[in-house]
Order: sequence, then C-alpha cells, then structure tokens
Amino acid sequence: ADIIGNADNAGHTTIPLPRDLFQPERVNSRGIEFGERAALNRLVADVATKQTLTLTVKHSAPEDVDRIVSLARDGFPSWSRTPAAMRAAALERAADLLEQRSAHFIALLQREGGKTLDDSVSEVREAADFCRYYAAQGRKLFDNAQPMPGPTGERNTLRLRGRGVFAAISPWNFPLAIFTGQITAALMAGNTVAAKPAEQTPQIAAEAVRLLHEAGIPETALHLIQGDGPIGAALVAHRDIAGVVFTGSTVVARSINRSLAAKDGPIVPLIAETGGINAMIADATALPEQVADDVVTSAFRSAGQRCSALRLLFVQDDVADRMIEMIAGAARELRIGDPSDPATHVGPVIDREAKQQLDAHIARMTREGRVRFAGQAPASGNFVAPHIFELADARQLSEEVFGPILHVVRYRASGLDAVLQAIDDSGYGLTLGIHSRIDDTIEVIVDRLQVGNVYVNRNMIGAVVGVQPFGGHGLSGTGPKAGGPNYLTRFATEQTVTVNT
Ligand code: GLU
Repeated sequence: ADIIGNADNAGHTTIPLPRDLFQPERVNSRGIEFGERAALNRLVADVATKQTLTLTVKHSAPEDVDRIVSLARDGFPSWSRTPAAMRAAALERAADLLEQRSAHFIALLQREGGKTLDDSVSEVREAADFCRYYAAQGRKLFDNAQPMPGPTGERNTLRLRGRGVFAAISPWNFPLAIFTGQITAALMAGNTVAAKPAEQTPQIAAEAVRLLHEAGIPETALHLIQGDGPIGAALVAHRDIAGVVFTGSTVVARSINRSLAAKDGPIVPLIAETGGINAMIADATALPEQVADDVVTSAFRSAGQRCSALRLLFVQDDVADRMIEMIAGAARELRIGDPSDPATHVGPVIDREAKQQLDAHIARMTREGRVRFAGQAPASGNFVAPHIFELADARQLSEEVFGPILHVVRYRASGLDAVLQAIDDSGYGLTLGIHSRIDDTIEVIVDRLQVGNVYVNRNMIGAVVGVQPFGGHGLSGTGPKAGGPNYLTRFATEQTVTVNT
C-alpha cells in the first residue's frame, strides 16, 4: 500500500517537501556554515517553500523482502571484495554530498521529523560525521591483514571480512543520522545492507539512500525496504540475514533476539541500541543555574525524544525546592511550536499515537497529584508541553517515557547509596548525568554504575561521533558503541591465515 508519511508534523496541512531543490550556487563546496543560524534558516525556508512534492512512499510487501534480501545476497561477493579504500571513499563522498545538501535535509528533518532547526542542523552534521568516521576506521581496520606473531617458519595474519547481508532497522528520532550510521558501518565492514527505516520517516530514508547510491555505493550493495513492524520482522527472520543492527525499543530488540534464536542455520549476531530510564544526580554542591540549564536541555530538547534524554532527576533534599523552582523557571522560557520557526525550542512529538501515550502518562501523574510544572503547548498538532512530576520513589517510574517529561525524586545525602541501587535496579544503563563539585562523589557514582555514557557537570544529550561513542548496557543494548573505535569490528568476521613458509 502507498502510505502518506508524517509530512504534517510541522503543524501545516499541506507541507511542500523538498526534492532536488538544493541550489548549489547558494552554498560553497564545504556546505553551509553551520554557525550561521539566521542565514541558514532563510536558506532552509527558501528551499522548503519551493518544494511541491506530496509525500507518498510505497511500502514493501512481505514477498518483496525475499526478493530484496536475495538481491543483497547476490551483491555481497563483489562489494565485500571491493578494496576497503574504495568503500571508504564512497562514504567520504556521501559526507561531502550531505554537507552540500544540508539545507535540503534540514528542511526534510523539520517537516517529516518535526525537528527544530538546531536539532536538524546537528543531525545532518552527525550523519556526515558517521560517514567520515567509519571511513577512517575502515581504512585502518579493513585495508590490510594484520600480522600476528608466530614461530620461525610460520606466517600468521588476521583479517576482517564482511559477514553477508546486514538488516539495518532504524528509528524515527534520528531518521538521518542513525539510519546513515548503521548503513555506513555495515557497508564499510564489507556487508551488503537491507535497510528498513521507521515507517514515520520514509522520505528522509529514501533521500539518504539515493544520496549514498550517488556517492558510489552500488545499488546491489544497499537496498531500502519501506514498511512497518511486520516488514521488519520478516526481514529479521529471513534465512539469508547474516547480522542485524537495530536501534529502537527494548521490547522490539528482545523480539528480534527471539526471532534470530529461533532460526535454523547460522547464529546471527544482533547489535542493539535501545532505551533507558536515564538518571541525573544533583547534590547540594552543584551549581543551581547550571543544573537548571542542563536539566532543561537534557529532558526537554528534541521534545525528550532521544534515547539519551534525562527521565529521572535525583536532587539532594536540602536544595531540592530551589532547584525544582529554577528548572521550572527555565522550562517556562521554552518556546513550543512549529519546528520550522527558528525561535522554537521544542517541536511536536513524532505522531498522534506518541502524543496520546504521553498525554495518558501526564493525566495519570496529574491525577496522582505529582505536578511540579506543566508547560503550555499549542492545542492543535502533535504537541506535548514539558512537564515536571515529583515522585516519592524512583520505582514509581518503571518504563521509559519517550517525551518531554521529567520526573524528580529527592534524596538525603546519607541516601546516595539507595539512589545508586535504584538506578542499578532499573536494569537500564544508557546515559547518566552527575552534577557535583566533590570529586570523590563523582568517582564513587561512576565506578558503581554500569552506564554507557556518563556526563559530569553538563547536559547529557548529543553524543559526538568519535568523541563520546554512544550506547549502553543491560536493557539499554548490546554495544558496541556507535561512533566509537570498536563498532565496525562487530559487523565483521575475523579470519586468520597461517602459512608454513
Ligand atoms: N546519540 C544521541 C544522543 O547522544 C541519542 C541517540 C538516540 O536517541 O538513539 O543524544
């Protein structure tokens, strides 16, 4: 069936979407200067208003999955033998193209993904960074076999090779960056790819795949499968899938794991990056202004729709009232609305269903008398206003709430251990924030918690490729970390060759 994508997410009725309207004469070869906000926004608005495409994307039928995976399997021998330097060069060309066409992708991210200007700019940046980073890693790891030691008369080498066809299943919250990151990692490691983007953001995926093909990734090596959950499930269950990379919910990661375990044939690895009930601990020595700023950024930016976002703030009781007041004050300043307005801080949530779930959570928390702050959002459209709720106990939040909703719990200085236990007991381990000026406290917390990304005295979102490799443990995922030095190897097999000389 044809589906209409999420094109009304900017709050408009008919959204003209960009297609090939990038105007090369408007930017230099390095793309748009990312710092030039106002100029950039004019350019994006200009690009967007000149678009007249109605978003219609064809969903693959279950029988297409077999055909597409077979094509990807047929493409494997040639792509996996393509020298790593050539694979890397294609990724670098893709990064160049993304930068050159950043206005085009920013407009798409705003309209289809409901993302603010700042978030869209960062996302295009991140997608290009993934391409360049994996290209650089790939040149190092895949170009030559690594010599290994051995006795005289024996030559040992170790080399990495692609596994086969990778299924790449990606989320709507980073429809360009995570989509591109998964694909480019799998391709760089010598795999061919069948990519299934989230059904909410099909257009961005289609345009990204077109760009990757244009950059030199053969059409036989990269295939797009549009569709919803059942299509993803059919893809994972296909006998010729040699690996799965998935970003999304813990529940879906588990079902992928079960499906892989139930298959006959080779044992198929899963690389999963899932959610978290991410905590921040702010003690009485923390700088209140900085805490307020970092909490608002971590909990409400991107409408709280990041895996990394802050969900549960533990505040030391001596300073709790003042901190909550300051956070609420900072949250009150946020502008919620049309993501194509550069002044907007918080755009819509992804779709009606997401809004309904978040509204139900807000209604329940409100009924229970926990409101400490309730923001204002436009009445029409998929907007959810930032909220702060106070809980008596961290265990009252047992699931990830994927939106602009912060939960606060007070703790006594003597009760830090119980706080750490509660965080540990959640079973998640993705991001953690610490606000304290006591080095010992920071050290104890970091050492005690098995959490993927820890941020001290700053906000806890926006991991940078190659700087803060991203991903967690336990219910939050399998690792390895995206944008980190150990990512590519998990997409590959290892082969040693021993020659008696
Ligand atoms: N890497 C993103 C960040 O650090 C989050 C990715 C996600 O939401 O999946 O904020």
